[in-house]
Amino acid sequence: MSSWDDELGNWPGFPPLAGDAAADACVVGLGASGLAAIEALAGRGLSVIGVDAGRVAAGAAGRNGGFLIAGAEPPLHEAVARWGPCAVDLYRETLAELDHLSDLLGPDVVRRVGSIRLAGLPGPPASDTEAADREAELADCAAQAIVLRKHGIAVEDYAGPLGRGLYLPDDAATNPAVRATRLARLLARVAELHEHTPVTDVRAGRVTTRHGVVSAPTVVVAVDGRLDVLLPALRGRVRTARLQMLATDPVPARLPCPVYGRWGYDYGQQPADGRLFVGGGRDLFIEDEWTHDATPTAQVQDHIETVAGRLAGGPVRVTGRWAAPVGFTPDARPLCTLVDSGVVAIGGYSGTGNLVGPVAARAAVAQAVEGVAPAPYLSA
Ligand SMILES: Cc1cc2nc3c(=O)[nH]c(=O)nc-3n(C[C@H](O)[C@H](O)[C@H](O)COP(=O)(O)OP(=O)(O)OC[C@H]3O[C@@H](n4cnc5c(N)ncnc54)[C@H](O)[C@@H]3O)c2cc1C
Repeated sequence: MSSWDDELGNWPGFPPLAGDAAADACVVGLGASGLAAIEALAGRGLSVIGVDAGRVAAGAAGRNGGFLIAGAEPPLHEAVARWGPCAVDLYRETLAELDHLSDLLGPDVVRRVGSIRLAGLPGPPASDTEAADREAELADCAAQAIVLRKHGIAVEDYAGPLGRGLYLPDDAATNPAVRATRLARLLARVAELHEHTPVTDVRAGRVTTRHGVVSAPTVVVAVDGRLDVLLPALRGRVRTARLQMLATDPVPARLPCPVYGRWGYDYGQQPADGRLFVGGGRDLFIEDEWTHDATPTAQVQDHIETVAGRLAGGPVRVTGRWAAPVGFTPDARPLCTLVDSGVVAIGGYSGTGNLVGPVAARAAVAQAVEGVAPAPYLSA
């Protein structure tokens, strides 16, 4: 099956934990958020043990659209309306995170190509309803651009072969599996990492895994879509949804950068090899997609295949299909919350965690180590 993993090369992996261990800090979950927490902890001179139930980025962090888009799940104008001016602070934090990631991993991994928010999907509307929806979305793009410009954030109107909308030049694209595994290799120099080490219990000073107990005064739990399973006390504050994607054979170059349309529900990226990586459709089958089950379904995949055809401007051949769980919160503000003494849980990025997750991770470390209260754009 074709996936982002095709570019991983020979991943040597990290051994499972071998018995009880102790460190200044333990991080549960080696997705992009957990890795950022490890970086922040090790940067403070602390000894760190990081564990994951599977491989590095075996969850959403290595299976997502690879969009490195500034801001949180609601576009900035909506986020400001819901959360107030702190939404702009979060936007700036994610831009800083993106700069940091570019510096760490370089332009081959972090491609600063911008992103396009389309009104609707490419091609003529299939119905009057779709045409009306596209007009409404175009008006929403204009509202988004006003708020971005008001805060000095770069945005341009987009009108081109894909349709109309906005171009956001600061954003970027990545292969998410490569991004996470490269970062893990760098961090393995300063921290002890263990794959295939499922955690069964977390409490103050103590992380219990299937292979031993890690004793650590500071713990960051970064398991996003599994938060409510590992920490049942968070049920109600975070809910898990399945997001689905597919990959296609190469098609002629059509997407100059990550493109998302139909109110951001559908999205696609085309790396230099010409393959399309396309996802979306959760909103159309929303009740079925509230699940921890990471098996792709025919109804969502059929929809995504249609989206892939519209992005490609012609037929596509699907070569891989997958899904992964992500956490959603009621008001879309990510969680960064103290669950026990020295234990901070993060997650609930509502489907947009590639940059927001690391921002939450750094806040979690500041909270756990220095007692700094999280910024108001995080849900404490
Ligand atoms: C199909 C899809 C497309 C997406 N597209 C985008 C996008 O383009 N841009 C964007 O910003 N966001 C996107 N997202 C969301 C993004 O992937 C997530 O928000 C982000 O990956 C969260 O990272 P994380 O490190 O917090 O969690 P995860 O990536 O979920 O990592 C959590 C890790 O914890 C581990 N774990 C779970 N339970 C345990 C346990 N009990 N013990 C030990 N380890 C455990 C898992 O194995 C996993 O490796 C998408 C998500 C999906 C599924």
